[in-house]
Amino acid sequence: MKAHTKETQATMTPNKALDFLKEGNQRFQNNLKANRNLLEQVNDTSEGQFPFATILSCIDSRVSAELVFDQGLGDIFSIRIAGNFSNEDILGSMEFGCKLAGTKLVVVLGHTSCGAIKGACDHARLGNLTALINKIEPAVDAVTEPKDESQRNSQNLEFVDKVAEKNVLLTINNIRQHSPVLAEMEDNGEIKIVGAMYDISTGEVVFY
Ligand SMILES: [Zn+2]
Repeated sequence: MKAHTKETQATMTPNKALDFLKEGNQRFQNNLKANRNLLEQVNDTSEGQFPFATILSCIDSRVSAELVFDQGLGDIFSIRIAGNFSNEDILGSMEFGCKLAGTKLVVVLGHTSCGAIKGACDHARLGNLTALINKIEPAVDAVTEPKDESQRNSQNLEFVDKVAEKNVLLTINNIRQHSPVLAEMEDNGEIKIVGAMYDISTGEVVFY
């Protein structure tokens, strides 16, 4: 498989980009890989990059977007932060990826058993991590079940995964609200903004 070029990027659409990721995750789940020579791709991409998607995911060592979607060099912009939330800098990176560099899809990818989400569920406090956890805590509050406080912590994995899903949805809202650039591109059909969840026990990505 060759790296994307200006020509292949020009024929890309938001739906096609989504299909590329779905097909890549299917290959990953089947333990297959597209036949690509990374060193050749270094050469192919040395004078420019024409990726098709911008993916915001967690720093979790098990959730590398390039691996779980079976993508090579020059295919995706990969933004990573613990808990895959967005702030001004991350929105700026996304705007670069879409408006200036031509990607057609923004994916907010959460995952099951996320340590950052668990930290938010437990209201963990530690150094600079406190400020990061604070940004995820609105997702904890937005999940109303269970009501029993003793069940609303990281021991309850079902609760943790519900918060992870809510966090993806709130992040998408945040992107639309705080990035007029991306909201306008989405309204015009130039890009799609979608949420997804990666299951660390199966390797499957489910798109919402
Ligand atoms: Zn995580």
